[in-house]
Amino acid sequence: MSETLFSKIINREIPADIVYEDDLCLAFRDIEPQAPVHILLIPKKSIVKISEATETDQSLLGHLLLKAGDIAKEQGYADTFRLVVNNGNGAGQTVFHLHIHILAGRKFSWPAG
Ligand code: 5GP
Repeated sequence: MSETLFSKIINREIPADIVYEDDLCLAFRDIEPQAPVHILLIPKKSIVKISEATETDQSLLGHLLLKAGDIAKEQGYADTFRLVVNNGNGAGQTVFHLHIHILAGRKFSWPAG
């Protein structure tokens, strides 16, 4: 898979404000935050988007969701936060390395825009 902005962040080729890291994933603050807390959580494995994940990614995807909750809690938002995964151009995906947006610290409307 070709290099993306996020693989460069994983490889420390470009800087990011990293808030969590383990063997499987990395979390860092979004450069253009849409909420007081806006963190991107990415797998270190290069998965282009959620629709390209496979059965072999099942435990990795579960790990990401659990860590997203942990990170929101560590940021002081254990109960109220929003997770967003944009899949494909039409849904607003601009970086083609799977990522979960963790948003917190403001009110959220529904449906999402
Ligand atoms: P998407 O639109 O693909 O769902 O989300 C990509 C996100 O990456 C956007 O929220 C955007 O602000 C963020 N982003 C783009 N470039 C950078 C960067 O260089 N550093 C960081 N930390 N975030 C970035």
